[in-house]
Amino acid sequence: MSDCIFCKIIDGSIPSNKVYEDEKILAFYDLEPQAPVHVLVVPKQHICCANAIDESNVDYVAHIFTKIPEITKKLNLENGYRIVNNCGDDGCQSVKHLHFHILGGKKLDSQMC
Ligand code: AMP
Repeated sequence: MSDCIFCKIIDGSIPSNKVYEDEKILAFYDLEPQAPVHVLVVPKQHICCANAIDESNVDYVAHIFTKIPEITKKLNLENGYRIVNNCGDDGCQSVKHLHFHILGGKKLDSQMC
């Protein structure tokens, strides 16, 4: 998608601070961290949001969750972390490319919202 900021990060036309990359996914530090460690994990295929996950693209999502233990180990999050996905307007999704926030590096608030 030509106007998608995360597609531009994936194709390298916008720089990012990468944590992990393979043929299917990219993980990079969030520009405006909301925790001591705040990383985004995105599929390299443009999927607009969690509501658009289906049989044709679920492999990307499964791959993200398969790799999260490796990514969080690299981030020294052995004591735990939170995975967040914002979907749609009520979920306050600001970038319309599916992404999972990994938040950690401290004891997080028990309140989810
Ligand atoms: P969401 O509100 O769930 O759509 O999250 C989008 C996230 O993308 C926010 O936490 C932003 O800080 C982050 N973000 C936006 N642009 C960039 C960028 N160029 N590099 C890294 N993170 C970004």
